[in-house]
Amino acid sequence: VASATSAAVEPPWSAEASVPRHELMAWYRAHGRHDLDWRRTRDPYAVLVSEVMLQQTQVQRMLPYYRDWLARWPDPQSLAAVPLADAIRAWAGLGYNRRAIHLHRAATVVIERHGGVVPASPSALRALPGVGWYTAAAVGSFAFGQRVAVVDTNVARVLARAAGGRADAHALLPRRIEEEAASLLPAQNARDHNLALMDLGALVCRARSPACASCPLQAGCAWLAAGCPPAPPALRATEPFEATRRYGRGRVLSVLRAATAPMAEAEVGAALPAPHQERLESYLRALEREGLVEHGAGGWRLPGGAQGSSSMASPKL
Ligand code: SF4
Repeated sequence: VASATSAAVEPPWSAEASVPRHELMAWYRAHGRHDLDWRRTRDPYAVLVSEVMLQQTQVQRMLPYYRDWLARWPDPQSLAAVPLADAIRAWAGLGYNRRAIHLHRAATVVIERHGGVVPASPSALRALPGVGWYTAAAVGSFAFGQRVAVVDTNVARVLARAAGGRADAHALLPRRIEEEAASLLPAQNARDHNLALMDLGALVCRARSPACASCPLQAGCAWLAAGCPPAPPALRATEPFEATRRYGRGRVLSVLRAATAPMAEAEVGAALPAPHQERLESYLRALEREGLVEHGAGGWRLPGGAQGSSSMASPKL
């Protein structure tokens, strides 16, 4: 959910009137994304992998990674048994590499503290590395069938529009959206209700050009009734992606993934575009702090494994 702002104004919410359950579920039965791999399993480990991969990454992009990951490591035991470097290599091209570390560490915690089974309790889920409130709710709902609201950016946008009368959720308080989402949960089958709202946001109530004419919420949608007023202009960074620290750090990891032996700092720097060479030391220190690289005899390398020993797919950065 979008971050809160102190200037957020409470809208006149009318969630129950704006989100008619019968129409929403009829639309979901006909048009929902029932065939997504992680919708066809209740295995909490598989659902956890899918949710961590979906953080910051679109479905079509992560799908081959999800399948490859589960084919290699179908359970926490098989994942925890391989060096962390293998998990980081398998993540190449997905971005936000800390997620690979989190999944690897989570597998270890599951084995050490939960007998090898992903726990169902929300507090135990949130204690796993990389699992916050959203991911714990998603695993709780989608794997364990718990009656808990799952509010991703798609759901937040649907509720902001239909019930809040806003173009998007950016200026709204996340807690308020979550409260409204919770108030809408049916007594039975909250899992499908959550999935229906998610799919509606992904397929119909899209961020750009929502398909209101085919939306099951159109009769009660507050934003549509108000004439679809635009969102206030957002302040956006103008720096090109190739100039960002995120890009530079990704390039460093890409170089070390492909290396067959530890590399000296100068060697890593020689493989980077010029603007990033002078930031190299700060990239390496930050990546080291986050556990993504390590420095030992011979230089820099991925943690916990010999360089170039994996049969993982080549980096896709
Ligand atoms: S009517 Fe349009 S804006 Fe309202 S919920 Fe449906 S798609 Fe979104």
